[in-house]
Amino acid sequence: MDDDRFDAIVVGAGPAGITAARELAAAGLSVVVLERGQYPGSKNVSGGILYRQPTEAFAPGFEAEAPLERPIIEQRYLALTEDALLGGVFRSMKFAEPPYNAYSVLRSEFDQWYAATAEAAGAEIYPEFTIVDLVWENGKVVGVTTGDADGELLAHCVVLADGANSLLAKAAGLHREWQPVDQALIAKELIALPAEKIDDRFALPPGMGAAYEIFGESTWGLLGYGFIYTNKESISIGTGALLQDLIDSGRNVNDMLDRFKRHPAIAPLIAGGETTEYAAHLIPELHVDRLPQVYADGVVVVGDAAGLLNPVNREGANLAMLSGQLAAETIIEARKKGDFSARSLAAYKQRLDQSIILDDMKKVSKMAPFAHDRPHLFTEYPRVAASAALEYLTVDGVSKKEKQKKIAAMFKGLPKRRLLDDAIGALRTQR
Ligand SMILES: Cc1cc2nc3c(=O)[nH]c(=O)nc-3n(C[C@H](O)[C@H](O)[C@H](O)COP(=O)(O)OP(=O)(O)OC[C@H]3O[C@@H](n4cnc5c(N)ncnc54)[C@H](O)[C@@H]3O)c2cc1C
Repeated sequence: MDDDRFDAIVVGAGPAGITAARELAAAGLSVVVLERGQYPGSKNVSGGILYRQPTEAFAPGFEAEAPLERPIIEQRYLALTEDALLGGVFRSMKFAEPPYNAYSVLRSEFDQWYAATAEAAGAEIYPEFTIVDLVWENGKVVGVTTGDADGELLAHCVVLADGANSLLAKAAGLHREWQPVDQALIAKELIALPAEKIDDRFALPPGMGAAYEIFGESTWGLLGYGFIYTNKESISIGTGALLQDLIDSGRNVNDMLDRFKRHPAIAPLIAGGETTEYAAHLIPELHVDRLPQVYADGVVVVGDAAGLLNPVNREGANLAMLSGQLAAETIIEARKKGDFSARSLAAYKQRLDQSIILDDMKKVSKMAPFAHDRPHLFTEYPRVAASAALEYLTVDGVSKKEKQKKIAAMFKGLPKRRLLDDAIGALRTQR
């Protein structure tokens, strides 16, 4: 083999790229990571939820060293109507003691720390390098280029970890440009608030955190959701929806987020806070049957770039890490064989097929079309439920029996056939 080439070039220093780079470097392969941002994580400004158990598998002992915000002890799933908020809360004291289930993190900080672990393993990481194209030799990918005269770098294998709607995977002919129906657009902000205010407003023990997912009016009823995550001294808040629905409805996510923040049930949670960061970002929403090809001669695709995300359970970073690891295992084997052909790299797809990533994606893939075809789940049903709760909880001299009749009439107003169809459809998503 040509020794002046790297064993692997990784494009993108997100969780997928960094995991791949770290595993490869730890196995003794020469690996370089090229990241367009000023530093790893600089393009991932807002907060997110990071699950402990899978992260521990990739970064043992990370809790002692990584910049983490708050352990998440409470999860709320809420529906927002024009004037009400209703839904379910789960707070567990088991989540409030080690081993924690999940943490809120600021990706701009976490990704930097995570990248340093790959450097410590021997990977070279170069920020402020935007890769604009791949380098080909006899129909095989053999490197990447920044587009400058001296911006070409060669390797036996290129790992595309450049995130949602990967332009490079498209350049490699592995997918067509993602369609608006295959991705969601999310606007997110980081709002600074003193820690004690966050504890008070979310009724949290000091240092503990909560995660809210909010449907319905948070997105004007479009398929999508709003979220609020508590960090140490800030709140991550965002909203977004399927790109196709945004286009069809003429809505934009900036207005959607402004409206969400002004809602009387949401505004008090962030009142007096200062917006310190803002970003809009794509999230893959590909049906598992429409996932792109993830390998070709000399190249593999990992993480969001390969559409590997479970939007229903809010699992992106951990699946990205796992795909990075599976890709690295495949490349290490390919290095031993001296064979980076598509045939050899196909083992990465086999690993994905046998992994929890595709298992879970198959499981949740039916849910998005189910919900998309039924906008009334996020609008009409919460409104009826809110009216029923308002009637029941208002003490106004009307007898409870009379109230019960009124509430029954509200639910009777819903088309029975549609209710049945919704129930059957919901059950079918679980098969
Ligand atoms: C608003 C929002 C909230 C989310 N919340 C959660 C959550 O709570 N929990 C969770 O697990 N997941 C969450 N996700 C999903 C999660 O962020 C992604 O699944 C995860 O970051 C994917 O990792 P990745 O390494 O594949 O891609 P990314 O993290 O997107 O990293 C890609 C990297 O490639 C770089 N890059 C792109 N193009 C180039 C190029 N041409 N040259 C060089 N570098 C390039 C980018 O700058 C970036 O650093 C959320 C996503 C969004 C948008």
